[in-house]
Amino acid sequence: GCRIWDADGREYLDFRCASGANLLGYGDPRVERAASLQADLGNTMSGPAPVMIDLAETLVGMVSHADWVLFAKNGTDVTTAALLVARAHTGRRRVLLAENAYHGWAPWSSRARAGIPREEQASRSYFRYNDVDSLNAAAFDAGEDLAAIFVTGYKHYWDACELPTQLFASRCRELCDQTGALLVVDDVFAGFRLARDCSWSIVNVEPDLSCWSKSLANGHALSALLGCNRARDAMSQVLAGGTFWAQAVPMAAALATLAVIRTSSYLEHMARLGQHMGDALKQKARKYGFEIELTGPSQLPHISFNDDPRLGLKFAFAEALLKQGIYMHCLHCIILTAAMNESDIERAVNAAEIAFADMSARRSSIEPSAAVLAFVGMS
Ligand code: PMP
Repeated sequence: GCRIWDADGREYLDFRCASGANLLGYGDPRVERAASLQADLGNTMSGPAPVMIDLAETLVGMVSHADWVLFAKNGTDVTTAALLVARAHTGRRRVLLAENAYHGWAPWSSRARAGIPREEQASRSYFRYNDVDSLNAAAFDAGEDLAAIFVTGYKHYWDACELPTQLFASRCRELCDQTGALLVVDDVFAGFRLARDCSWSIVNVEPDLSCWSKSLANGHALSALLGCNRARDAMSQVLAGGTFWAQAVPMAAALATLAVIRTSSYLEHMARLGQHMGDALKQKARKYGFEIELTGPSQLPHISFNDDPRLGLKFAFAEALLKQGIYMHCLHCIILTAAMNESDIERAVNAAEIAFADMSARRSSIEPSAAVLAFVGMS
């Protein structure tokens, strides 16, 4: 379902959803039954199981731009494989990334410094998501060395979220068509939370490659790189593999998850609950003298408080909710799972009202958290 318990046995309604991996609910019986049937046959073996073919065919059937699939474990595995494919395909090096986007911990995209040689920085240029001028400038900067443009399914960093605009998405596609670079949609987080196809299907733009993980197997460790025929040769030249990448149990779990995705209204259900929750939170906030803004899709609402430049209110809100058994990230968006229902949302909204009341009573003394400020680079 949508609950977790801490070491002292306290129950929490979980709006972190395993960083997005919990799409249908923890321990969903349809998914777990398929996983357990496959476990009886084998998991880690000397080769892949037939379920790999079924899953590959299913994914290629569901994701419009895709003609082939590479399976791996984590999101970083497949974003890194995507970069290798783009570099092999173009014979070039430079990659365009959106400012503050996260594509995994690997040195080519990581914003961390420790252990990462400076040369890695030299192969990246940055643009602002949805900002066509900054995208054009970054492409100009990369010049004839442009191998790939990476974009997340929508802008979902710790600050306000944005769906891709038509203009921006079309310009990404056009730049890749003009230069021969590959367009990569990193759907590791957003995949199957915006659409039953690649997230950029909402703006009718097809990437060359897309990266998937998290929701794909409803919490079983699996990721996938999906690609179009144009990138097939390059994929076959690239070395990307791991001992556990062909495990059969997560693939069986993914096949069952995809069946629910195709045949149920899980997405509309989450969107409706999220909309209801967002409206109610705004109303409760106003009652206690706070103005909040909700951005991003309703099933993944991101809250910001007005007049909260140092994020003290946002952090205090998450802390006050946690004390009442509601677990939300103190910076990122709220994540809904299809296992939630109206009474879960009611419980969260009631807790939010108590949190707003408490914050309103001690408003002048609310301080930003040093740890949060350090994380967002404001310390
Ligand atoms: N890309 C995106 C958009 C992500 O959100 C994440 C993980 N949060 C990753 C890549 C990396 O995935 P993983 O942590 O499984 O390596």
